[in-house]
Amino acid sequence: MTLTEASTSADLVELHRLSSRFAPTEIRADTSHLTPGDRSALVELIRAARILDDIFMDQLWSGNQALLDQLKQDHSELGRARLQYFRLNRGPWSDLDGHLAFLPGVPPRKPAGANFYPEDLSKEQFESWVRSLPPDQQKDAEGFFTVIRREQGQLAMAPYSRIYGARLEACAALLRQAAGHTTNATLQRFLASRADAFHSNDYYASDVAWMDLDSALDVTIGPYETYNDELFGYKAGFEAYVSLRDEAESAKVKFFANHLQEMENNLPMDARYRNPGIGALAPIAVVNEVYCSGDAAHGVQAAAYNLPNDERVVQEKGARRVMLRNVQEAKFKTILTPIAGRVLAGPARGALDFDAFFTHILAHELSHGIGPQQITAGGRRTSPRKELKELYSTIEEAKADATSLYMLQYLSDREVLKIDERRLYTTYLASSFRTLRFGLKEAHGKGMAMQFNYLADQGAFVRCDGRYDVDLGKVKVAVRELVHDLLTLEATGDYAGAKQMMDTLGVIRPEEQKTIDSLKDVPVDIAPLFVTAASLAGDLQP
Ligand code: ZN
Repeated sequence: MTLTEASTSADLVELHRLSSRFAPTEIRADTSHLTPGDRSALVELIRAARILDDIFMDQLWSGNQALLDQLKQDHSELGRARLQYFRLNRGPWSDLDGHLAFLPGVPPRKPAGANFYPEDLSKEQFESWVRSLPPDQQKDAEGFFTVIRREQGQLAMAPYSRIYGARLEACAALLRQAAGHTTNATLQRFLASRADAFHSNDYYASDVAWMDLDSALDVTIGPYETYNDELFGYKAGFEAYVSLRDEAESAKVKFFANHLQEMENNLPMDARYRNPGIGALAPIAVVNEVYCSGDAAHGVQAAAYNLPNDERVVQEKGARRVMLRNVQEAKFKTILTPIAGRVLAGPARGALDFDAFFTHILAHELSHGIGPQQITAGGRRTSPRKELKELYSTIEEAKADATSLYMLQYLSDREVLKIDERRLYTTYLASSFRTLRFGLKEAHGKGMAMQFNYLADQGAFVRCDGRYDVDLGKVKVAVRELVHDLLTLEATGDYAGAKQMMDTLGVIRPEEQKTIDSLKDVPVDIAPLFVTAASLAGDLQP
């Protein structure tokens, strides 16, 4: 039995199939370098994060807590399978299946407005109610941090600080305790101001403090992403990431940043498109996750995130990108390694390498900062984004992938950086199938298909006996030409050219589809087992 709109619940076999797409994988982080104060703070932060898990489940659906209590009572095999999949989704709807119900007695699909709005509220009703409010209240009604309820038949809003008051106060107390344990001033400032925000419902100052965070403990805790509000995308879900900074990888980011202008000056494109003074880079933190909760912990696990979302903070302070290295490593082991086993030709398999994989991801992020940003097209000052319109994100993602390969090769050729070419290109080849297996609906999939087919057509990727290998003699030139073509599309704002490249190369060819079909039983994502967090703070089941 497969989950459908009409099925409303899944049997044991189906539940096992649904769950098996998430492979349980241990998440560990090395705490040995922490000061005793930071270690104590870490424990308090894990406890605080657990409270947000409860709040998030409440935000997702009003019936969640009662349902969870009921599931915990059911010790049958079916009951245990239901509880397990409920925990993976933090609710009775399957994240990977369009939020369809897998349990009986619940709405057949997650309510679009989750528990941020009354379940029966229509868009039009909300909008006309908002229009009836004074302007300052309109802002709050559409803001991140209020819920909308019906009180005596009338719509009304309430701040998170009131609706989740007791639990937020408990969380705030733990943040203040953690602030008392650490000696890092930037962490103290963030934790104290975030604790205040839980009470005042004003998150601005603490978002600013988060941007300035420079600490061995890297914490993101509060209401952030708005994906669960499918009605308007206004309301923020509570989540937490409790992580430790990865010093070695952070140094690598700095190293790349110091070479970015040199890279810009040597990009394989017409010299007149080069920017003699590239802008400051958005800060990138590389961390290892100890624990995550709430909105961060259901369905597919994030391996990186950009925050804050508040436009006022972004305009003043920019945004910070946090990359979760050990989560990426867990996905590499559990997902990419079996994919490589089926995609790569025998001799290539030994060249799969996590360090090459992660270095390429870091370089990808930095590559977004080079290449054409401000351009002239048709006599106007404009940007690649404006000219390439809906094609831009596909072209830009492909550009960042290819340019980062070029960058690593460039730095290696000049002996500034040591890379193993065989590992770099082979790992990149295998990882392209990690993206391609999810099809071409998203910008990443189309962009990946474009790169893959471009390089295959140049003979850089060779197929034999249904498996792929890299031709090291051809791949460097092919990547250089691909980078040239993508950068030139951006530099000239060539919409027609971008469209043509995507239409001809952004496709999955029949032989590639055969390879993709062989990956069906490889897990889609990990189900994290927080080993380090559990040893620090005890039982961590929600
Ligand atoms: Zn990117």
